Parts: sequence; structure tokens; C-alpha cells
Amino acid sequence: MLSRITRTSARRSVRASRFLFARTMASNKGEVETHPLLSNFGTKAFSGAVADQYLTAQGLPAGTLKNTDWVRDETMADSVAAGVLQWAVDHGATSYCHWFQPLGASGVRHGLSGQVHNAFFDVTGDGRAVWDLRGKHLLQGETDGSSYPNGGLRATHRAGGYLQVDPTSSIWLRDDTVYIPACLVSYHGHAIDEKTPLLRSVDALDREGRRLLANLGWDVAGLQSNIGLEQEFFLVPADAYAKRPDLQFTGRTVLGSDAPRGQEMCDHYMAAPSSATPALQCMQEVQRQCYEIGIPLRTRHREVAPNQYEFAPLFGPVTTQVDQNIIVMQILEETAAQYGMRALLQEKPFNNVNGSGKHNNWSIGTLDGVNIFNAKQVTEASGNADVFPLVMAAVVSGVDAHGDLMRAAIAAPGNDFRLGACEAPPAIMSTYLGDDMTAYLSKYKSGDSKASYNPKTKDLDMGVKCLAKLKVPAEDRNRTSPFPYGGHRFEFRAVGSSQNVSFVNCVLNTLTADAFASFSDKIEAGQNPRDVAAEALNESWRVIFNGDNYDEANQKMLTDAGVWRIDSGVEAICQITSDKNVELFGRSKVMSPEECVARQSSAIDHYVGTVEMEALAMVDMINQSVLPVADGESCTACESAVQTIKSALAAVHAEESEQKRGELARTLRLETMVEIRETVDAIEDVTPKEDWNLATYGELMFLDQTSVYDMY
Ligand code: ADP
Ligand code: MG
Repeated sequence: MLSRITRTSARRSVRASRFLFARTMASNKGEVETHPLLSNFGTKAFSGAVADQYLTAQGLPAGTLKNTDWVRDETMADSVAAGVLQWAVDHGATSYCHWFQPLGASGVRHGLSGQVHNAFFDVTGDGRAVWDLRGKHLLQGETDGSSYPNGGLRATHRAGGYLQVDPTSSIWLRDDTVYIPACLVSYHGHAIDEKTPLLRSVDALDREGRRLLANLGWDVAGLQSNIGLEQEFFLVPADAYAKRPDLQFTGRTVLGSDAPRGQEMCDHYMAAPSSATPALQCMQEVQRQCYEIGIPLRTRHREVAPNQYEFAPLFGPVTTQVDQNIIVMQILEETAAQYGMRALLQEKPFNNVNGSGKHNNWSIGTLDGVNIFNAKQVTEASGNADVFPLVMAAVVSGVDAHGDLMRAAIAAPGNDFRLGACEAPPAIMSTYLGDDMTAYLSKYKSGDSKASYNPKTKDLDMGVKCLAKLKVPAEDRNRTSPFPYGGHRFEFRAVGSSQNVSFVNCVLNTLTADAFASFSDKIEAGQNPRDVAAEALNESWRVIFNGDNYDEANQKMLTDAGVWRIDSGVEAICQITSDKNVELFGRSKVMSPEECVARQSSAIDHYVGTVEMEALAMVDMINQSVLPVADGESCTACESAVQTIKSALAAVHAEESEQKRGELARTLRLETMVEIRETVDAIEDVTPKEDWNLATYGELMFLDQTSVYDMY
């Protein structure tokens, strides 16, 4: 049977619940929920109260989606499907798809997802079309897997790709389509997507976290990691973008002379969004669409480079947040186009101004909301003062042991140009804990039973009679650390803006779960928990660094101390299959050895493919736009530059070893193309404006700088 509810009864119950909600809210917050941004919030996500309306009408209890049992019970799945169908029809949808995250999508694939839309109808015996969506449609799908990167996990003649609904993230709806978040595996069950290993790491963290906490006398129902992602991006005028083949093909400019103005004065940073240009309206529209899908995009502001911006949501469970971030990126690209702009998500679209990152704020919480990185909360909830230092010791020792994997997880091609370049921390994986926390852990590990961690605040006097004193943390932030502890969360600051952050969080979850497991092993073997923490902290103390990570003497000191430092992204990717890491992923049941090999291989292919597109875009631009305006020596230099790039590409293609192929591509990109760019940019500098047919940095970067925009 399909839907048993009528549209009117569904609408009535939605209204009834809104009324109740309005009354409770009205008592302390005013009638805020009548604002469409809030009253529409989450109406297009099948979760919470919205889903319960439709599920209870199908005879299922409210809260059915809070656990994942329905995906293993066909009768329940049929009822969930009937609820989804009614909700979808009520919102004018006509199609559904499994929405999955193939490997190798970051920076190249619009929407970072794979999806095949199917209309949810069937034709009856007498030729009538009726809506039709069953449990079996939701639960599982099949796709021709032949063209997704699989790193060798699928033989050329075997194409099956299987999709399995992910019940930890909400089904959602946009335009006429219902999106069912799903995992993608090969015929043999190997993960060929970003999501499956992430979900396994969530299981590992839950399993080992509960075990450790139980060993410390605290039984919790479950643990999850929570993240909040600060998404940076650029908006550029569509007409200028249309005159940049490099931006169109690769997302970054491979040529381009600096404009007279850059970010010297940092005047774009947090400046007023202008109503005279379309950027603000575009961001408002992105937020409106996101709220409907239940994506809590809370913060918006201008970033430091001209035309650079940021969005950040309220944080939440990792799988939902990863999915939502991908949706935000897609909506952003589409909405920018509607407002006469293009959104650039690549890490380094422009030379000599900041690139874009995606700070990955990460914490671990119990299912009932205790943040185990919050000393006060966790000590109160557990009644055991050893829990917090053990948790911190686990993270610190995990970063020390597996900083190479953290580096691999941020080896997005675009990050080549950011890390260590004074806009993102260098590729040395230390962690900042702050002086108070460091002093506390130091006392704790030396057996000081009175040691306690009470983050202090201080009062700042502003020197003005009518102003109250400011309460601030006793310690400043450290923006030069790749992985600072910020009170109740760690902030992985080196993540790239275009990335699907599944693997980033998969690594953080796994390295922590593994440290939890080794602590449990020791405690279960009779060791005192305090000694376990002290031992782990002593072994990994070098990784704690509270100073300036941009300072070269400090970098040398950290490197000499043996803190993981991998400058080359290609080399970092190749750490995925080191013995240590294959063992780590194996014992935590996150990835099999074959899956590690496949992930590394597809990441190298992605890197080499990116460089190839950039090199070919450079060749085309030199031939089609620069050579025609060059003369004499410049002309010869351009011709030889084209030959140099072509030979370097041929050498990349001829190289059989995966790692060497990556290294050759890296040299081409970071040395050869950088040198060639200098020659070409010098030609641009002396070419009359009317003869230069590529958009200049001036035309691309000042859309939202009202005073400058008018000039072009
Ligand atoms: P800042 O720029 O100061 O780092 P923002 O407010 O721009 O801060 O972004 C911080 C992000 O961190 C937000 O997405 C926020 O929801 C998230 N966040 C805050 N606390 C936590 C936490 N405990 N766990 C995970 N994410 C968090
Ligand atoms: Mg931040």
C-alpha cells in the first residue's frame, strides 16, 4: 500500500504542531517563528518533527528515525517510504535518487556527488500513472560503477556499483527531487566512496570510546563526533570568469599579473557586505535555501582577500555536516550563477592573495550531549576526574603517531599553494593546547594529584567609564597551529576549501579510536588509568607546541623533534599505504588493505589529473591569448614554454610508478609552471588593455569592492 494519509490531514497536523511550537517560543523569544526563514526551517529535510508528522500517519512511532533499525526491517522501510512519498508529493517532488559521494570528486565534480534521478511513479494495468515509492526503493540502489574512480578495486569488465541508504543523515528535497544519502560499494563490498570509511570510523570511535569510558566507570549510550565547517570561497563576476579558460577548466588562475590592489590593507576582512553588488543577495539566497533543507548556516562574512567570503553553520553530527557542507557548496555555485557571478571553491584561485580553507572544528560528544573535550562537563557527568585527561592524552598521542595521515587527508591539490604560505599552517602536524592546559597535563602526568584544569578568564578594562569590563579567556588564540585546542573543540585549520571532509574526519576519528583502544587494553590488563595517560603523554609530548608555527626556527625544532612533517602532498598521499597505516585502518575496521591501496591510487590520479588540466589550460592560454600579443624575445620565450610543458606532461604519462608520476606532476606544477608564469605575467604587464583578451586580476577580484568595481 502507498500513502494512507491525505494531504489535508497532513497539512492540518503540521499546522497544529506549529501552533504548539509558536506558543512555547512566544513566551520568551517573541513571535520569531512566523518569520519565513524560521517557519520554513527544515521543512525540506525528512527528519525530526517534519518526518514524525508523516511517519505517525503511517502508524510508526514518532522518533522512528532516531535509531537506524528501519533500514534492517522491510515492513518498517515500506512505511518510512510511504511517509517520504507523501511528504515529497506535498512539496511538489516527482523524482528521487540515491545521493552518494564518489572518490576523486573534490574540486572537479559539481556537487561532489553522484546521482541518477528516477521518477517515483508506476503505470497500472489500465494505463494510469500513480505515485509509487517503496521501502526497497529507499534501501538499496544499483549504479553502473564503471566510470567512478575506484583505484583498481573494480576490474575493467566488472561495472557493478551498489548503493545503500545511510540512515545517519537525513533524506532531503530540493526542487522536484528527493535525495537519499547513500554509501557506494563495489560488487565485493569494497568502499569506493568517501562516506563508507567515515561511517566505519564513527563506529570505531563509538565502540572504543564506550569501552574506554566503561573502563573508567562511566557507561554512556554512545559517542559521536561533531563538526562545524567554516567554508571559505570567492565570488567573481560571470563576465570576467567567461574570459578565463583556466578558472573555467581548473578553478584557479594559472596566469595573471597582480592588480594594483591586493589585500595589503586587509580592508575586505569583515567589511560591510555591500548592497550595491550582488554578493550579499547571493549569500542571503543561499541561506534561505539551506534553511529549508535544515542546514543551519549561521555565520556569513567577508574574508580577507578581495571577493573572498565565508559561511559557517551551527555544528552537528559529522555525517550530517559533511553531507550538508557538500550541499552548501553546490547551492553556492548554482546561486552565484543566478546572481551574475561564479563561486570559486578551489583552494588558491589567485596568486599573491589568501587562498580558501575549510576549518574543521571537531569534538566528540555522548549521545545525550556531553562534550568529552569539555573538562567541566565531562568531569561532572562522569564523576571521574581522570576521564578528561585520558581523552586529551588519547588525542595528543593519536596526532603524534598519525600526523602523517592528517597531512594526507588535507593533501587536496589546491592545498599545495596554501600550506605554510602564511595563510594556512605549515605541514608540520603539532597541536596547540594553550599554556594552562599544557601546564595541567604536565602536572597530571608527573603524578600531581592536586592538578586541576580550570580555564581562567580575565577582565579587560576598556578605559571608558560607561563601558563594562570585558570577560575574555586568559589565553589568546593561536592561528598558526594546524590543530589547536580551542576550549571545547579541536580546529583542524589546514583543510582545503574544495574538499569533501569525510577522510579528514575519518582520520581524526580513527586515530582517536585507536588510542582509546590501546588505553583500554592496558587498563583491562590491570594498569592504573593515570599511569596509562602519563605514559602516552610522555611518549607524545613533543607534538604539543604552543608557539608560532610560522617561525622557521620553531619549524626546525619541531622537525628535529620528530613531529610529522611532510611538505609534499604527493608524498603525504603515499603514506596511506605505509605498514603502520594499513595496520591502523585494519585493526580499527575502517579500511581493508585493498581499500587503502585504492584510496591512495585514486588520490594520486586525482592529483595528476588536476595538474594535467592546469598545464593544458596554460598551453592553450599561451597559444591563444599571449603569443598573439608577444613579439621578439617574448615570442620565443612563449614558444619554448609551451614545448617545456608538453615534454613535462609526456614524461608524466610515460612514468609507470604511481608515486613518481605524482612527483613529476608536482614538479611541473610548482616549479616549471611557476617559472613560466613569471614570463607570461611580465608580458601582460606591458600589453595594452585593448589587446589583452583574458580577464585581469583587477576585473576578477573587485566585484564587492564598490569603489574599485566601477573602474572595470
Ligand atoms: P572562528 O572563526 O572563531 O573559529 P566561527 O564561529 O566562524 O569561529 O566557526 C566556528 C565553527 O565551529 C562553527 O561552525 C561552530 O558551530 C563550530 N563549533 C563550535 N563548537 C564546536 C564543537 N564543540 N564541536 C564542533 N564544532 C564546534
Ligand atoms: Mg575558525
